[in-house]
Amino acid sequence: MELTGRSIIGFKRGETREASLHGFNPATGENLEPGYHFASSAEVDLAAQLASEAFTSYSQTSGAKRAQFLRKIAENIEGLGDLLVERAIQETGLPEGRIRTETGRTCGQLRLFASLVEEGSWVDARIDHADPNRTPIPKPDVRSMLRPLGPVVVFGASNFPLAFSVAGGDTASAFAAGNPVIVKAHHAHPGTSELVGLAVSEAVRLCELHEGVFSLIYGSGSEVGTALVKHPLIKAGGFTGSRSGGRALFDAASSRPEPIPFYAEMSSVNPVVILPEALQTRSEQLATGLQGSVTLGAGQFCTNPGLIFLPAGADADALVARLGELLSGTAEQIMLTPGISSSYQKGVSTRFEQTGVAAVMQKSAAAKCGAAPALFRVDAPGYLANPTLSEEIFGPSTLIVTFEDEHELLELVRSLEGQLTATVHATEQELTSNRELLSVLETKAGRLLFNGFPTGVEVCHSMVHGGPYPATSDGRSTSVGTRAIFRFTRQVCFQSFPNAALPDELKEENPQSIWRLVDGTLSR
Ligand code: NAP
Repeated sequence: MELTGRSIIGFKRGETREASLHGFNPATGENLEPGYHFASSAEVDLAAQLASEAFTSYSQTSGAKRAQFLRKIAENIEGLGDLLVERAIQETGLPEGRIRTETGRTCGQLRLFASLVEEGSWVDARIDHADPNRTPIPKPDVRSMLRPLGPVVVFGASNFPLAFSVAGGDTASAFAAGNPVIVKAHHAHPGTSELVGLAVSEAVRLCELHEGVFSLIYGSGSEVGTALVKHPLIKAGGFTGSRSGGRALFDAASSRPEPIPFYAEMSSVNPVVILPEALQTRSEQLATGLQGSVTLGAGQFCTNPGLIFLPAGADADALVARLGELLSGTAEQIMLTPGISSSYQKGVSTRFEQTGVAAVMQKSAAAKCGAAPALFRVDAPGYLANPTLSEEIFGPSTLIVTFEDEHELLELVRSLEGQLTATVHATEQELTSNRELLSVLETKAGRLLFNGFPTGVEVCHSMVHGGPYPATSDGRSTSVGTRAIFRFTRQVCFQSFPNAALPDELKEENPQSIWRLVDGTLSR
């Protein structure tokens, strides 16, 4: 399969202009061929028109048909084999094992959504039968279920070139719900995006769907990305990236004449609270676990633990010293892009200059896109006095904040912004006797962990990968797990409809045998 450097617009390819973007190998500093051509505004409009046309038929496809489509995408991605793995390694600097695991996760995610829509009960069908004899007024027949929204624009993430990019979680959940998708490729991995885009496009063709079900667009975020979000035919968006980028796109979506939902996953520092007994009894395990979690994937995970609350004292000093030693011995890793690498270096050097912040461990990276771990320490009053210390530094660094007592710890957690995760290391007894701590943390984060580490997000029905702002733009949603499908749906009610005109899910005879709430009782 040959890369062409052009957008995929339905079954057509974008026009060739002067190439505006090359893939870049952060490990070698080389540009990769081919050059990629940014889409024109006419091409953006064509993708939106095709997606809108496709919505008419695609939104009416059965769960079985969508499941076939999602499984075909997974099969086609697997069929790319080493070609995809090699290109993704070149464009990201990520190791082969990580790329292969992420490919498996991407295909697993697609198949999980296939099973969900094939079974069908996810539509939350509800039926309230009519009662013509009710007084003083007769009760009408009322039925409702979840239906798709319309064309969705998805912004590929830099840090998940597969699992949160062209055929990643946002795309899989939007397709599963019955929406066409237009992906804005991330500039960090254009070739990986094209390969996966071709795999999706081929699945559209093989499943005999309307060509507008999928398009992949190259271009800058501020021009092409914003134009897509503002396009009147686009009905929702999904995004993973920086707070500034997510916020700009969310604001663009909200300020349209017709505002649309825009699900942005942005920044999170994922606080870890360590209580005294856990610190006393498991210091070595905590130090090695934290080192692994902070440096995993060069710290380029949205669930990276960037803030650790420790009870002040000799045990804390010992843990900090040991963590510093372990981080110091961790090999330098390559970051995804020169931009991410320079933001990391800048974030680290700025933090070292802050009043009251001690540099426990500082090393300089040797390679151009390299990232050396960093460890900082500050006491609770110093942290609370300086809001910049609560900001995410995307990379392998973390900040230890020591507290004197329970009261100071509560003050720290109450000051937190919204987070994807919050972790508590404690004995079971400590956990149950710190109810106020837990109730405050529950208001701050989408996922609470006990005696674990936040990196590593299981893709399953119960997962919540979301959280109050700025972790996400809508804290009621998750972007990982099957509940992600609900972001791209809305409730539609059918009142007094003849049985034959109802969607199958709401027909009296329940032809798909799905679970439904019928007159208040769950049945099938
Ligand atoms: P990003 O800069 O937010 O870019 C993500 C996508 O949004 C790209 O397609 C980008 O387009 C577009 N975009 C960015 N700013 C925009 C704007 N003002 N208007 C319209 N579109 C815009 O994220 P990134 O490139 O992945 O990494 C940059 C930084 O984001 C990192 O250093 C890190 O701090 C943060 N980040 C956080 C997470 C997390 O999960 N917490 C994940 C990834 C990145 P272009 O192609 O034109 O850039």
